[in-house]
Amino acid sequence: MGCKYANKEGAELEKKVLQAEELLEQIFYYMGQLVNEKDFSASMLLLTDLGRVLVNSERASFWYWDTRKKQYWTLAALDSQRIIVPEGTGIVGASIQNNETITINNPYEDPRFNPQVDKETGYVTKSILCMPVTNTAGKVIGAYQAINKLDDEGESAFDERDVRRMALAAMYCGKNLESQLLYQEAHMDQLTGLKNRRGFYEYYEDVIEPGLQEHIFSVVMCDIDHFKNVNDTYGHNAGDVVLVHISSMLQEAMQEKGAVVRWGGEEFIMLLPDQTLKQAAGFAELLRKKVEASICTFEDLSLKVTMSFGVNELSRDKSSDENIKEVDEKLYRAKTTGRNKVVA
Ligand code: GH3
Ligand code: MG
Ligand code: MG
Repeated sequence: MGCKYANKEGAELEKKVLQAEELLEQIFYYMGQLVNEKDFSASMLLLTDLGRVLVNSERASFWYWDTRKKQYWTLAALDSQRIIVPEGTGIVGASIQNNETITINNPYEDPRFNPQVDKETGYVTKSILCMPVTNTAGKVIGAYQAINKLDDEGESAFDERDVRRMALAAMYCGKNLESQLLYQEAHMDQLTGLKNRRGFYEYYEDVIEPGLQEHIFSVVMCDIDHFKNVNDTYGHNAGDVVLVHISSMLQEAMQEKGAVVRWGGEEFIMLLPDQTLKQAAGFAELLRKKVEASICTFEDLSLKVTMSFGVNELSRDKSSDENIKEVDEKLYRAKTTGRNKVVA
């Protein structure tokens, strides 16, 4: 058949229909790998590959439904790059929206199939099996798709047995994705997408504490000045928009280095790797000026706010809470000595 895949020893095998014992061995192989795999993407890849082996298909992909961005994207696609498509598109869209398993063994005669991708890539789709993936509450969170069933006779048709087998992989994919989503949610502030306190403590333990052995870290704590006035004057929704606006400014200023945390209502913490107190103070001053000059639009309003900053170098001899207490005192001094300023 010419199609090859890596078996559990990493050697290449001709693709063929697995006998029951081989199949069982494969299942145990993948399950054993999964037990030791801590990385989310890697475990999704393993699970996706398990599904492909179970139904003996040429390709398999797992699609995550990003309801915030109204897109589907592949979390694990074997033989292809990450693909992003708008919500509702294609067989995956039909499967997710109707919460139904779709089997198509004659795609070119099926109106739900869009042959455009095949035209562009030269790939020939002969059969599709797409299954919605749900969370514990039964809500659809993604879809599992296998393409081109292979068998010894060279025929290519998914059947009921494939549906039953794939359900196993889809169920595990769902559990894995759900636990990852819950984990992310628990560590992230919903309004701004920044780390929350729990995210902060995790980052501190995983990155800062070990990092402090060899690196210096500075911390910037900042708070919007008279933010209560924004809420009182323009309403809570306007306040929320300002918080999102400020959050993205802080994140942009960090350029993916370190971490930005929403510490409380309108209070943020930035952790800066390899920055001395002086450098971090310079960084905070630039940021202060940027915030002061920026305009946040909400409906037909142009809102302006300022922020106060405390800056400190983290001490490896102090706990996270002690370090935060110190920088908090500096922020307090910035607040009590005029606001819209940096105290380092
Ligand atoms: P200061 O300059 O001393 O920091 O004054 P302030 O008004 O900014 O501080 P204060 O602590 O008096 O008020 C903070 C306000 O932030 C009160 C609270 O309602 C508001 N706030 C906290 N979280 C949110 C949120 O998620 N959205 C909105 N819109 N407001 C929030
Ligand atoms: Mg404030
Ligand atoms: Mg505050």
